[in-house]
Amino acid sequence: MLDILIKQANIFGEVEQLDIGICHAKVSLKESDIKVNAKEIIDGKDKLVIPGFVDSHTHLEKALLDDHVSNHSGTLQEAIENFKVYFKTVDEENFYERAKKALEKAIVGGTTTLRSHISVSKELKFKAIAPLLELKKDMADYITLEVVAFATPFPDVLDKENLSRLEKALEKGATVLGGCPTLAPNHKEFIDTFFELAIANNCPLDFHVDESDEPNIQALEYLAEKTIKEGYEGKVTAGHCCSLSAVDDDTAMRVILKVKEAGITIVTLPSANLYLMGRNDCQPIRRGITRVRELLDNQVNVAYSSDNLRDPFRPFGNFDMLEEALLMAQVAQMGREIDFENILKMGTYNAAKGMGLVDYGLEVGNTANLVLLDASSAKDAIISQANKSHIIKNGKIVAKNRKTSHLIYNN
Ligand SMILES: [Zn+2]
Repeated sequence: MLDILIKQANIFGEVEQLDIGICHAKVSLKESDIKVNAKEIIDGKDKLVIPGFVDSHTHLEKALLDDHVSNHSGTLQEAIENFKVYFKTVDEENFYERAKKALEKAIVGGTTTLRSHISVSKELKFKAIAPLLELKKDMADYITLEVVAFATPFPDVLDKENLSRLEKALEKGATVLGGCPTLAPNHKEFIDTFFELAIANNCPLDFHVDESDEPNIQALEYLAEKTIKEGYEGKVTAGHCCSLSAVDDDTAMRVILKVKEAGITIVTLPSANLYLMGRNDCQPIRRGITRVRELLDNQVNVAYSSDNLRDPFRPFGNFDMLEEALLMAQVAQMGREIDFENILKMGTYNAAKGMGLVDYGLEVGNTANLVLLDASSAKDAIISQANKSHIIKNGKIVAKNRKTSHLIYNN
């Protein structure tokens, strides 16, 4: 007896319609006509089955604060400074409850795994990360939350005390180290220090890199060289990488080839970059999106992600990866059939690869984390912002959505 049987669905990446059987939290069968009883049967007609979305770069502790923290200039710097002040006023329960609401949005939006950078600083200490590590456990049946111990970009970031606090956060349950080398006084010293810490604690690294319009900021190139030198290929993620779009083509290609060799995953955050970058420009205003197509064309693993959710860094968003996909398609000028398929991969398989997720995907034996879309193809799903009819996490339906419209002719 299967737990769930999906009949005759289009499956992302497959040519023919197939049945999918789910049992004991796994994809247990994938065949043309499964003849096994199931507790629940879903008619897959007119649906596209994809693996659960992976939102690999977010900031849960800042989520849903756009009505409480201002950002009049719309710059990255003002948002950072204003949060520093506001965070003194909130308690652990506030962090937990807001993050839970944000995660609930992600779940109904079809995200089954989400990585969040959570600030650890001299002022905050563990006030944000401790409740979110609790939330990670409490929500584990509905969404996998991966927590990055994130060094807030203040001048004391490399103090011994701050570094030992980050290590403590790893002991408490964070599994990745992160920070902003470009915002540190010396990005090379920052990267070297964090590699030392990551190697000592055997954990991956996820940096905010070159979140700037300026062409002379190139922490990404040094990060790639350091990754190769330390043999850390496949364990490093670089988010943003905006200034890659501000350098000349030859420089960009030199850096892209090093990034490829280093096996670094690039996570682009189109909505946040469009909102925060170019704020000091006169026309033409730079738009701050990294070179997505060139990176993909050179076989770099590229994912897209939400980044912030309705806060001063980005007062938009629903933690809906299909919504971000549509924006991605437009700002990166990706409108061919193959582009839409690549974008869907960026929000699923590529992001999963970057996070090192095991048994991810729709193959038999993998954990059954999947989404049924009311769509015929990747292109249709993204352009129509398809309804996500069923979200399945660990083999159980955790959310259902319905979108209906009625056209009424009055004659
Ligand atoms: Zn971020």
